[in-house]
Amino acid sequence: MRAPRRAEKRAPSVVLVNTGDGKGKSTAAFGTVLRAVARGWKVCVIQFIKSGKWKVGEQQSATALGVEWWTIGDGFTWDSKDMERSEAVAREGWKVSKEKIASGAYGLIVLDEITYPINWGWIPVAEVVEAIRNRPPTLNIIATGRDAPAALIEVADTVTEMRNRKHAFDRGVRAIRGIDF
Ligand code: ATP
Ligand code: MG
Repeated sequence: MRAPRRAEKRAPSVVLVNTGDGKGKSTAAFGTVLRAVARGWKVCVIQFIKSGKWKVGEQQSATALGVEWWTIGDGFTWDSKDMERSEAVAREGWKVSKEKIASGAYGLIVLDEITYPINWGWIPVAEVVEAIRNRPPTLNIIATGRDAPAALIEVADTVTEMRNRKHAFDRGVRAIRGIDF
C-alpha cells in the first residue's frame, strides 16, 4: 500500500465553491469567515440575494467582529415584480464586487448566492472567472449557491456539494431564527 501523499504545497490563496441543494452552503462560508477573522484578515461578505431589510443573524455577528457586510439584493428576486430592476441591482453589485476583488485590501471575500444571478444570465460567468483568476495572489474567495456553473467549478480549488438528505422545510417547518437566519 502506498503511503498517502503529503500535502507539500502552500498556496497563497484558494477558491472555494459551496454548491448543491442541501443546507449548509452559506453557513459553511460564514464558518470560514470566523477562521479568517481570527487570523486578522480583512473580510468582506457580499450577499447577492438576501434583502438588506431582512437582517440575518450572521450579518449582526460578523459586523460586530469587524467584517464588512454588503447585501446587494433587493429581496428574494424570484418574488420581485420588477425583474429589470433586480437585474440592474445585481449588475451594479457585481461591479462593486469586482472592484473589491481587485483592490488587494482583503484576505477573504465571500460571494454568497452568486450562482443565482449568474444562472439567470445577469452576471456573465466569464467575467466572474476572469476576476477570480486575476485576483490578488493572497485573496481567498468563497462562492456559494445552487447549480454552480461548470466554469466556476473549474476555476475553484475546493468544491463541496451539499446533498439534501432531509430538510425540515419539506415537512412544512418554516425558517427558524438562530438556525436558518
Ligand atoms: P444555509 O444558509 O442555512 O447554510 P444554504 O446556503 O445551503 O443554507 P440556500 O439555498 O442559500 O441554502 O438557502 C437559503 C435558505 O433556505 C436558508 O434559510 C436555508 O436554511 C434554507 N434551505 C437550505 N437548503 C434547503 C432545502 N434543501 N430545502 C429548503 N430550504 C433550504
Ligand atoms: Mg445560502
